[in-house]
Amino acid sequence: MSSKKYIATPTRTNEILKKYGFFFKKSLGQNFLIDVNILENIIRHAGIDQQSGVIEIGPGIGALTEQLAIHAKNVVAYEIDQRLLPILDNTLEDYSNIQLIHQDILEADVNTCIQANFDPEQQTHIVANLPYYITTPILMKLLREKLPISSLTVMIQKEVAERMAAEPNTKSYGSLTIAVQYYTNAEVVMNVPKRVFMPQPNVDSSVLKLTIRESPPVDVLNEQYFFAIVQAAFAQRRKTLRNNLITFFKGSVIEKEHINQILDAIGIDGTRRGESLSMEEFALLANAFFQATS
Ligand code: SAM
Repeated sequence: MSSKKYIATPTRTNEILKKYGFFFKKSLGQNFLIDVNILENIIRHAGIDQQSGVIEIGPGIGALTEQLAIHAKNVVAYEIDQRLLPILDNTLEDYSNIQLIHQDILEADVNTCIQANFDPEQQTHIVANLPYYITTPILMKLLREKLPISSLTVMIQKEVAERMAAEPNTKSYGSLTIAVQYYTNAEVVMNVPKRVFMPQPNVDSSVLKLTIRESPPVDVLNEQYFFAIVQAAFAQRRKTLRNNLITFFKGSVIEKEHINQILDAIGIDGTRRGESLSMEEFALLANAFFQATS
């Protein structure tokens, strides 16, 4: 098929929109991709090959779905907007390796979907141009479920991508960084200009690749507690670690002096700010307080 006929071109996208009288719903984060080169780059970075299984979130009118169907073995795509289902049936009719599911991804049982659609030995990846209004809830749901997948490669708001892939001691580093990097190796693989979207979004975009870790990079005694301590450390970014912990433990069995003792015992200076702590230091901190409270 010549590239002129691909869905991801301004001409073909306009034709499809006109044919179906489709109007964009801003509330669903509908910004469609109209550049095949960008899509090929995303797919290359995702490490997709002809054996891969792919889950896509939000196929829109099928721009990315079509390229995935060409490069992968099979594709399952979740779309929330009922109006797009008949359109997709038509735009993707030439491809027999795509399954469309009309469902909110936040409600979906993705694990069962993977068992049902992909072979256990098949490498499975998530690839998406995500709706920006719910990027973080979607990614955190998929990561917490510990799905049997190799990677997630997603187009998201540039600022959020930078937060997820951040290093300590930077403005972008925060509880979201730790939450994402606990499960994955995070890397911003490219920045994407606004002109490749229709309509153009108000924010800048990047492609983030999250490669699933075989096991977490640190040993924590209790994951929920670990994430709660990380949240607490960043609750007020300008405050010291000690002061954020004092606020967090107010009214609990852990008193101010006890906080100082624990910090001294593990060798972490309480006058530091949360943003200077590495993942290892957060694990040390959380484990020490967990032991002290249980
Ligand atoms: N993949 C298409 C592309 O790149 O041209 C469209 C991407 S557009 C940024 C996001 C898509 O996600 C839209 O089709 C929108 O309807 C869909 N969407 C929004 N919220 C969703 C949700 N909770 N579950 C599934 N799909 C959703």
